[in-house]
Amino acid sequence: MSSENKSIHEFDLNLICEYYSNVERQGPGSPEITIKALSFIEGLTDESGIVDLGCGTGGQTMVLGQHAPGKITGIDLFPVFINLFNSNAKRLNLQDKVKGIVGSMEELPFQKEELDLIWSEGAIYNIGFERGLNEWRKLLKTGGYIAVSEVSWFTDERPKEIDEFWMDAYPEIGTIPNKVAIMQKAGYVPVATFILPENCWTEHFYDPQVSAQEAFLNKNAGNKAAEEFIANQQHETQLYYKYKEYYGYVFYIGKKI
Ligand code: SAH
Repeated sequence: MSSENKSIHEFDLNLICEYYSNVERQGPGSPEITIKALSFIEGLTDESGIVDLGCGTGGQTMVLGQHAPGKITGIDLFPVFINLFNSNAKRLNLQDKVKGIVGSMEELPFQKEELDLIWSEGAIYNIGFERGLNEWRKLLKTGGYIAVSEVSWFTDERPKEIDEFWMDAYPEIGTIPNKVAIMQKAGYVPVATFILPENCWTEHFYDPQVSAQEAFLNKNAGNKAAEEFIANQQHETQLYYKYKEYYGYVFYIGKKI
């Protein structure tokens, strides 16, 4: 099997983690888009409880910390990311407001109806969109909000190559109306939906990876798995440029009723 056709699920997590530790974001997004999504959330106060699930090194969490009142807990499975997250919080003098803890989005350490806002950028796919919306809802207060970004199809049909790529990477990918219907069915009023602009993929996600890939390959010279992983990343990037009118990331914002 050629490395570029290898499924992302076949790579070693430590390798993926090392690679993504060296970039500011681990998924598509931008500070402007985090702020835009936040503009749909009403009623936050200094007492609000906010969580950012699958926070990574905290690119978006720090933006939340600078623009939303309330206390923010970032949760990620990987200690390496959480260590970087907490040093980023300190560097920005947000350590009293923004804290990172190691944990799983599948087993969250919160009480029922404890939270005012659940945030998750480019990460809910790890638990699955529908399951995440259903399970996390229990932790939200009535009237609380959820804001997640999720890869979505822009059209009902698309070329076979990109369809096959995403059906392997994330079979739960769906169209925007399909995702909105899932959100409504899970017990939220769909408050807003918007497509992340292209620069969230290019300027903020793929472009910074070019130098990170070079450094990663130098550090792991001769490591076949590392070389294959980078070839796989580059293939994913090429597919994005080729098929970007068919898919992208979409922010889904809902209010618990
Ligand atoms: N929100 C960040 C990171 C997105 S990448 C950003 O937009 O930059 C997805 C993140 O989910 C990774 O940091 C990964 O470590 C984390 N993750 C994967 N499975 C998880 C789980 N079960 N619980 C918590 N985090 C998880």
